[in-house]
Amino acid sequence: MTTPRVHPDVERVLITEARIHRRIAALARDIGKHYGDAEVTVITVLNGSMVFLGELLHRLPMPTRLDSVVARSYGAGTKSSGRIRISRQWQLPLKGQHVLLVDDIFDTGLTLKRICDHMRREHPASLRLCVLLDKPTRRVVDLQPDFVGFTIPDQFVVGYGLDFAERYRNLPYIAVLKPQIYRA
Ligand code: 5GP
Ligand code: MG
Repeated sequence: MTTPRVHPDVERVLITEARIHRRIAALARDIGKHYGDAEVTVITVLNGSMVFLGELLHRLPMPTRLDSVVARSYGAGTKSSGRIRISRQWQLPLKGQHVLLVDDIFDTGLTLKRICDHMRREHPASLRLCVLLDKPTRRVVDLQPDFVGFTIPDQFVVGYGLDFAERYRNLPYIAVLKPQIYRA
């Protein structure tokens, strides 16, 4: 197999595809141990979590139901606007269910906090957070993810589902773009 070329806009690959896949397999085992045989309602935050969810979901050993929520805060920039809009809500009833909320990255935490607050009104039996990436230095809310793939420094990353202005989601690794791309 030939080594895939790195995208020309990429400054640095932070996490390779092989490392991501190994880590997600381990994460799925941890999540499986936590829930045992209980059915879990997996709610994924679109669009960023799509690629992560695809790799994670088929490795989860327990019974699941799947739904999604669409939330936006960034627009086309690299800083959270702080105004979180839930533009499409989940459809499954959550009352009495074990809910696992899956997202690409936990940054300020405002997005997941907002979604969690909404979900708690439906009285789920439990509510846990699973993210591929965590940037703990950016936290502004009193909330921690329960299952984390990788802890990363405060840098704006793309790839493996994460975008910059809706581009680069298809990169198979997590990377930092060249500064001139973010400026453009
Ligand atoms: P939070 O509300 O935790 O500040 O931000 C959560 C959302 O912001 C994530 O779901 C993601 O869409 C976006 N985000 C935060 N940090 C990054 C980053 O480094 N890269 C990308 N592409 N999106 C990010
Ligand atoms: Mg997102």
